[in-house]
Amino acid sequence: ETLANQIAAGEVVERPASVVKELVENALDAGAGRVDIELEEGGVRLIRVRDDGGGIPPDELPLAVSRHATSKIASLDDLEAVATLGFRGEALPSIASVSRFLLVSRTADAAHASALAVEGGQLGTLEPKAHPTGTTVEVRDLFYNVPARRKFLRAERTELGHVEDWLRSLALARPDVELRIAHNGKPLRRYRGGGSLFEDGRLEETLGAEFARQALRIDHSAAGLRLSGWIARPAYSRASADQQHLYVNGRAVRDRSISHAVKQAYADVMYHGRQPAYVLFLELDPTRVDVNVHPAKHEVRFRDGRLLHEFVYRTLQGALAETRAG
Ligand code: ADP
Ligand code: MG
Repeated sequence: ETLANQIAAGEVVERPASVVKELVENALDAGAGRVDIELEEGGVRLIRVRDDGGGIPPDELPLAVSRHATSKIASLDDLEAVATLGFRGEALPSIASVSRFLLVSRTADAAHASALAVEGGQLGTLEPKAHPTGTTVEVRDLFYNVPARRKFLRAERTELGHVEDWLRSLALARPDVELRIAHNGKPLRRYRGGGSLFEDGRLEETLGAEFARQALRIDHSAAGLRLSGWIARPAYSRASADQQHLYVNGRAVRDRSISHAVKQAYADVMYHGRQPAYVLFLELDPTRVDVNVHPAKHEVRFRDGRLLHEFVYRTLQGALAETRAG
């Protein structure tokens, strides 16, 4: 089982940023309003994620670190319309098999929290511990027992950069949640929670004041599809690849067909072949999109890809053309 988990870890856990992603997504699935991330040495030495979500009952702690134990879907039908970020039940066991791992959690009605340590996949015993309602996961010495993978980790700055990039992309999708990150004991960033992307300045916080000032607001629905967010006006000259954010039903994804549709809409109104910059949220019935394509879940498969391409292209092309006319 440890070996199976380590093999799965090869697909789920590439670097500290992928661990942070899985842990923070679990926190969000648990209804957290605030998530604190602490890293040491780019996350290679320590990743600690603490949330104020619903917590895990003590008897379910061993299950949470067991393979394919998910509390989020109960049947194949649920997989047709996944509403949570997680659903495969393999992140925690995978991470725990390649690190020194500690899970501490408390539900609102428990007298105290319980802690479960896992080292190299071996479960320890449940111990009582002081902790407010919610969950803390500590991941130390990532890949300490898999030298072949540890070798591929990059410099502290690089690994930290990947975490910060991912967190920015999450902050765009979840302005309702407070997100904090600290590195080597120093606070790095705080995204204030409780707001909406459209009102409270999170667009400035994430993509910068200049992007926010000129961006064109998009919100269009048709045929059960909705595309909302922002796209940079053609005159915006500071676009870069890290200003291209696409979310499908709230999940950050990369999709060639949709990025192509955006580029094409841009190309129609642009003369210089500039990169588009955008934050776009595509919403559609969950049964029209398959999120179970890749273990890391940053790819999806659409049931009606042609229609979507057309919808995105037409929506943006129309909006961009208006800026030129006006
Ligand atoms: P998945 O998210 O796909 O269900 P994971 O391996 O990421 O699988 O997590 C296993 C289970 O542990 C989850 O289904 C959930 O029940 C529980 N869990 C993990 N992290 C948290 C958390 N921060 N708060 C509450 N429950 C959690
Ligand atoms: Mg998960």
